[in-house]
Amino acid sequence: MSDLQIRQFPCLSDNYGFLVHDPDTGETATIDTPDADRILAEAEAAGWTITQIWNTHHHFDHAGGNAAIRAATGAKIIAPGYDAHRIPDIGLKVGDGDTVNLGTHAARVHYTPGHTLGHVCYHFADDGLAFVGDTLFALGCGRLFEGSPQQMWASLSRLAGWPDETRIYCAHEYTQANAAFAVTVDPDNRDLAAYAAQVEAERARGEPTVPTTIGAEKAANPFLRAADPAIRKHLRLETADNAEVFAEIRRRKDAF
Ligand code: ZN
Ligand code: FE
Repeated sequence: MSDLQIRQFPCLSDNYGFLVHDPDTGETATIDTPDADRILAEAEAAGWTITQIWNTHHHFDHAGGNAAIRAATGAKIIAPGYDAHRIPDIGLKVGDGDTVNLGTHAARVHYTPGHTLGHVCYHFADDGLAFVGDTLFALGCGRLFEGSPQQMWASLSRLAGWPDETRIYCAHEYTQANAAFAVTVDPDNRDLAAYAAQVEAERARGEPTVPTTIGAEKAANPFLRAADPAIRKHLRLETADNAEVFAEIRRRKDAF
């Protein structure tokens, strides 16, 4: 069984497009569809034919290109069943615990409500990588448009349970702005300081900061660190529960 091949490229103002290709079977999935023209051009440049569309959630910068890509390729749309009323033409409705196959590789579907109420992540556990849409970002997390802080905290906690080396493909390049905020709630975290410096250097060279890893995020991302004593002390929330601490960090980020 050959390794999955991943082609990552910028779309729209700050999204990433991802094409995932199984060389053994030729199956190719686009993870979300931020920009149909760009995604189709990238597939052509790689010599791949898109056979599947995997959506993480219904937002336009994630599912807006579904119809055009499906019209061009006949690709099957795989999307959360929860979003069936707002993502047209779903060929396979998925929910928590389902397995989705890309050729010989299998991804487990994790239901991760918070950013939206239908959001799912796709975890290729055997390959050590995951596509997490707008749930977890490098040094950040998605805004709570539909879900509650309790739901998002539970979703992020589930991702934090994956192995540290898991490569995390998030859907946006927000890391520099996220770092600027993160240091305001966790100013003495050396791992965060080192991570932020690395991000500055990468962006100065025009390089992506995605993918990240679960281990790097657990060490530096304040949205995964609601249990951390230093952050709690800084926020004066020593006795609050983790979801409350998370909610306060999210509130501060929204106002930052
Ligand atoms: Zn979104
Ligand atoms: Fe998005």
